[in-house]
Amino acid sequence: MGKLQGKVALVTGAGKGLGRAIALYLAKEGAHVVINYNGSEEKARETERLAQEYGVSTLCIRADVASPEETKSMFDAVIERFSRIDILVNNAGITKDRMMTAMREEDFDRVIAINLKGTFLCMQQAGRYMVKQRYGRIINISSISGTIGNVGQVNYSASKAGIIGMTRSAAKEMILRNITVNAVVPGFIKTDMTDSLPERLKEAINENIPMKRMGDPEDIASMVVFLAGDEAKYITGQTITIDGGMSL
Ligand code: NAP
Repeated sequence: MGKLQGKVALVTGAGKGLGRAIALYLAKEGAHVVINYNGSEEKARETERLAQEYGVSTLCIRADVASPEETKSMFDAVIERFSRIDILVNNAGITKDRMMTAMREEDFDRVIAINLKGTFLCMQQAGRYMVKQRYGRIINISSISGTIGNVGQVNYSASKAGIIGMTRSAAKEMILRNITVNAVVPGFIKTDMTDSLPERLKEAINENIPMKRMGDPEDIASMVVFLAGDEAKYITGQTITIDGGMSL
């Protein structure tokens, strides 16, 4: 029997990258998974099919996490189907990199809207049910860009540092309701997000990582499963960095 047998988990942005790996690791441990996507329906359906191979129930829902209406409808659909929500993983995120002096206001706003406000909206929705259930596990995906900064990412690093602050405040609010809220802080991980970087930049990044390579999505997914499980029940409000030593 899996460590998360029968639990209901929602992963935002679960069509690809870290989100897909996280959804599949949760399913492997027996959790029913809700796969959220915004633009990548086909990829989300593929994640769903792969999750079903573990014998769990699945639900695939399109919602832009930056939209309060769409986020609410998504949680309504989850409750209608499963009557509860045990685990929320706020993984959806985008970058719109540019040097600060040239950054467009709309690129600043959109990154904050999806990465930071989207995390808030989903925590708020899930939190309402979790408080009633007296049970919940929330895991937010931040980034070392939010802790050590990164060139060209003032918008992204603000959103990811904001997630850490929100995680701590939400953890304090929920602490007596048997709800834990933690943040995972990845370094550079091999996904579409990092694949799209120029080859020379990728080489420079690898050179900068003490382990000399980017991480795999599974390196993040295994920590999410740990934080979602019973073994992590005394851990809350924490940020766990997984970066091959980059922030040392
Ligand atoms: P990715 O492959 O580009 O995936 C991003 C995911 O976010 C996609 O599934 C996308 O779904 C979803 N998404 C974007 N906008 C959305 C919206 N408005 N509503 C719902 N979903 C939305 O990137 P990734 O590397 O897996 O990133 C996953 C998370 O890890 C992000 O929060 C990212 O900031 C964080 N992270 C990544 C790295 C890294 O090195 N890869 C490092 C640190 C942190 P659709 O395609 O369906 O829109």
